[in-house]
Amino acid sequence: MPEELRVVDIILKKKAGRALSTKEIEFIVNGYTHDQIPDYQVAALLMAICWQGMDDRETTDLVLAMAHSGDTLDLHDIAPIIVDKHSTGGVGDKTSLVLTPLLASCGLVVAKMSGRGLGFSGGTIDKLESIHGFRAEFTLDEFRELAHRVGLVISAQSLDLAPADKKLYTLRDVTGTIESLPLIASSIMSKKLAAGSDCIVLDVKVGRGAFMPDLKSARTLAQTMVRIGQRASRKVRAVISDMDQPLGCAVGNALELHEAIDTLHGHGPADLIELCLQLGGQMLQMAGKVSDDEQARALLQDKLATGAAWDKFRDFVQNQGGDLSVLDNPDQLPQAQYVEDLSSPQEGYISDLNARQIAQASIVLGAGRTTKGAPIDHAVGIVLHAKVGDAVQQEEPLLTIHANDKGHLESASDIVASAYELCAEPVPKPPLILEIV
Ligand code: URA
Repeated sequence: MPEELRVVDIILKKKAGRALSTKEIEFIVNGYTHDQIPDYQVAALLMAICWQGMDDRETTDLVLAMAHSGDTLDLHDIAPIIVDKHSTGGVGDKTSLVLTPLLASCGLVVAKMSGRGLGFSGGTIDKLESIHGFRAEFTLDEFRELAHRVGLVISAQSLDLAPADKKLYTLRDVTGTIESLPLIASSIMSKKLAAGSDCIVLDVKVGRGAFMPDLKSARTLAQTMVRIGQRASRKVRAVISDMDQPLGCAVGNALELHEAIDTLHGHGPADLIELCLQLGGQMLQMAGKVSDDEQARALLQDKLATGAAWDKFRDFVQNQGGDLSVLDNPDQLPQAQYVEDLSSPQEGYISDLNARQIAQASIVLGAGRTTKGAPIDHAVGIVLHAKVGDAVQQEEPLLTIHANDKGHLESASDIVASAYELCAEPVPKPPLILEIV
């Protein structure tokens, strides 16, 4: 008679730093997906994984068990190549809102499953849900139909694709178990493999506003995900990008959407545009649309300048039920009641801007969740007016806080008060792209 597996033994085994077998990993993933193992036991195991890690074989087993926890999709009847993009999570990271319509406007079919906010990092679905009427929950047939008709679909994890990740992602968000290489790699790659994309570009963030604090760990995460994707016969490239200070200027759901709209109109922040061109360039080359960086850049810039990417974004939002009048008049997006500036105490150059503090303040304002399934406030957040390397005058606003609660406003002001550092000498702009894997 085969030995019976017990969840508590598996938790103890990982707590002791031993590698879990393929059978044990499948047992946990299947049991949790089908509500046969309670949250508290899985939370304990996740914490043990955070402390003890997983080796390459365990991580691959976890990815595969999660990828096969539900349906898997094949969209090749729609297009010969399906593409997808995913970020490991950052602060002010609205890249998907710009990059996905940009790629779709180049003729690629983008079929993407996105998450809500995770820990201090924002989520694409939360941002899109700032648009009145926007719908992100679909059946597989609806998802397929939108990919076919629009060329761009972004769904929440309502589909039965990698349902194990949906449950684990929500649990990790509120149990302090996000920052773990095997858990991040399995969360991202299980979704990507289940959704059936052929070409995947990964934006691996590094710095204080990311889950990977240093280049070494970001590189290992990037290499792990690329290797797992290649083993599953997918083309995968990872761009390691800076997340020590927030990306762009807006942090908070509706504020970030507004910035993405501006960017699609051709007047977005330079770092956001550059990241979209870099990630988009990798994707266009992987998908065989262009043969080098120069051609890729020219094509992407043309799609931004001619409004083709913007038109695709409107088309996508309309087809997912969003109110177009909000897109055309972004002032109709949710607005916060209290708007207050933090001014520079002195003249000088910005030498540091701590993304983690900006993220924490934005969570305090209500832009993210602290308990499972809690509602969020789409209107609140922070808009930065100065980034590292910029010169500022005394009393010039460094940032603006958007709040809907006086107490939250005060707490957020306290947090951001020390987010900036200034110095008297000019400071070079930090590099945005650190490596391509
Ligand atoms: N994005 C995901 O989908 N999962 C993670 O764990 C981190 C970022």
